Amino acid sequence: MADAPGTTMPVAFLGHGNPMNAIEHNRFTESWSLYGRSMPTPRAILVISAHWYTNATLVTAMDRPRTIHDFYGFPDELFAVDYPAPGSPELAAEVAEVAEPTWVGRDVDGWGLDHGTWSVLVHAFPDADIPVVQLSINAEHGFAQHLDLAGRLAPLRERGVAIIGSGNVVHNLRAVDYRLADEGFDWAHRFDDSVREVLTTDPGDVLRLNDHADYHRAVPTPDHYLPLIYVAGLAAAAGEPLDMMIDGYVAGSLTMTSYRQG
Ligand code: ZN
Repeated sequence: MADAPGTTMPVAFLGHGNPMNAIEHNRFTESWSLYGRSMPTPRAILVISAHWYTNATLVTAMDRPRTIHDFYGFPDELFAVDYPAPGSPELAAEVAEVAEPTWVGRDVDGWGLDHGTWSVLVHAFPDADIPVVQLSINAEHGFAQHLDLAGRLAPLRERGVAIIGSGNVVHNLRAVDYRLADEGFDWAHRFDDSVREVLTTDPGDVLRLNDHADYHRAVPTPDHYLPLIYVAGLAAAAGEPLDMMIDGYVAGSLTMTSYRQG
């Protein structure tokens, strides 16, 4: 496996949507495949997933993180997916170091790789041979703290680490209307468009979106949105805007919009 010395590895926000994307092939999963093929082989991958939203800042520090099937009511085929990427206790230690003064706990036996991580990585890095580490989202921290912590992770990009935030910009499960298939409600369009405007011009200004008139409908809970705050903070630390990789609507109240820098 080649390291990538001298290369700034990409940071990306991937809208993961329905867990079934892990075993389906569509234009979103194709964009994740293209993303994985479009960079030098990373030394390791750090993922901030919507699905590890907990009351502490933790990093997976085990040699062999398990594949977590953190959902219900899906076909056996999805429960059978295994993503056997190694962990990286070394990267976990580096994350804890650069995050200071935020304390980062080393998780050696609790979490693993949740579907926010593996549903995109099975497409982006199908060989599962690159070490993967997850950083939890501390539910007790405010948005400004998350944005600050994101900026401190930036040096990892210079050390061969690709960083991914996995969530969704608009994610309102209570408002889902499956008759709408690939359409979005007007408020979903308005919020997604405003996010795009900020991220592609001044990602460091991302917190002003919390005052957007449609914010509470688009982001009824912060878990799927906060990975985007990390990606915005990393982009701001690099002094460059993000580029949109793909956009799209699902069932009225979900957007699959994805972004990258580098
Ligand atoms: Zn999710």
